Amino acid sequence: MVDTSFAEQAQARLQSTLDELKALVELESPSSEKAAVDSLVDHIAARIEARGGDIERISQPEYGDLLVARWPGDDREPLFVMTHVDTVWPVGTFERIPCEIDDAVGRGPGIYDMKASVAMMLTALDILSELNAVGRPIVWLVNTEEEVGSPVSRQHIETLAREASTVLCLEPPVPPNDALKTQRKGVGMFTLTATGRAAHAGADHASGVSAIEELARQIQWVHGLTDYSKGTTVNVGVISGGTKRNVVAAEASALIDLRVETMAEADRLVPIVLSAAAQLEGTTVTVEGELNRPPMERSPHVLDAFERAREIAASIGQEVHESSTGGGSDGNFTAALGVPTIDGLGCPGDGAHAETEHIQVPKVAPRTALIAALLSKL
Ligand SMILES: [Zn+2]
Repeated sequence: MVDTSFAEQAQARLQSTLDELKALVELESPSSEKAAVDSLVDHIAARIEARGGDIERISQPEYGDLLVARWPGDDREPLFVMTHVDTVWPVGTFERIPCEIDDAVGRGPGIYDMKASVAMMLTALDILSELNAVGRPIVWLVNTEEEVGSPVSRQHIETLAREASTVLCLEPPVPPNDALKTQRKGVGMFTLTATGRAAHAGADHASGVSAIEELARQIQWVHGLTDYSKGTTVNVGVISGGTKRNVVAAEASALIDLRVETMAEADRLVPIVLSAAAQLEGTTVTVEGELNRPPMERSPHVLDAFERAREIAASIGQEVHESSTGGGSDGNFTAALGVPTIDGLGCPGDGAHAETEHIQVPKVAPRTALIAALLSKL
């Protein structure tokens, strides 16, 4: 028999969830603006305290402070919930793309990726206490630097994940069927720098060695490492270099993004990228970087977790699907440790990191019900 209590509770609390969401979106929080992110963290900490959460605030010098909130439960291992509240949108975006939520669609910077998840999580906690449906202890991380690769939070994520039975990652699901993510590519981030010798481009061209020409050759080489048949891509996304039009460039560099489906492919490819060698006489090439996020492989512990989520969803009358993505999340870290990880539990919508970013408002309550049911029944 279908348990309708979670859906009823989530629907009854829809307006308050949306009001909370609007407040979250209006506190802009680009990863790089610590003061702005900390204001949002203060706001969320107060919301968590109001729900009886025991808060550990991990202060950080560069990015916003991290919050780890804990609620007691039975004596089993906890569930570990991951959200992030930093966005890719600079302060002021809100003036251009205001937060507007109607019956169909909600817009605003970071609404889909992933402030809706925070609003839904707060409501899910209310539902658990209202229904007296608390199961395992809950540990909730509010990350503030996910969009820049979780440089500091990673160690906390890995420690908390190892202590947990299952990780719930509230990243947005995959359109069009709102699928959970059982496979994510691993992400490598590298900087390739070419150094040559400067010279006057007119008076003394022959004595210069162009770092830009070297970089151009390196870009072609590195792009040649892409292999769609393996799901491997290598992309130079940013280049810079040179000083003046009439100067042979002494330095040029490229930012490289690498994506792989398996750890084996990462082990093969990362050393190749790091081994980049100069092709022009008189230049040097150096590469710095590493695999930032290991791939989430579609392995048995991920599939088992998905299967349990599917059963719990069915128990409240919902159907969930699975899908893969080239995008990385904090779920990559936890899945790579072998901890069962359910990713993509955020609010359905589309347009992450794009002007079209939005959520589907009719799906807020059902998704909130699903999160609450998972917290109660996993
Ligand atoms: Zn995200």
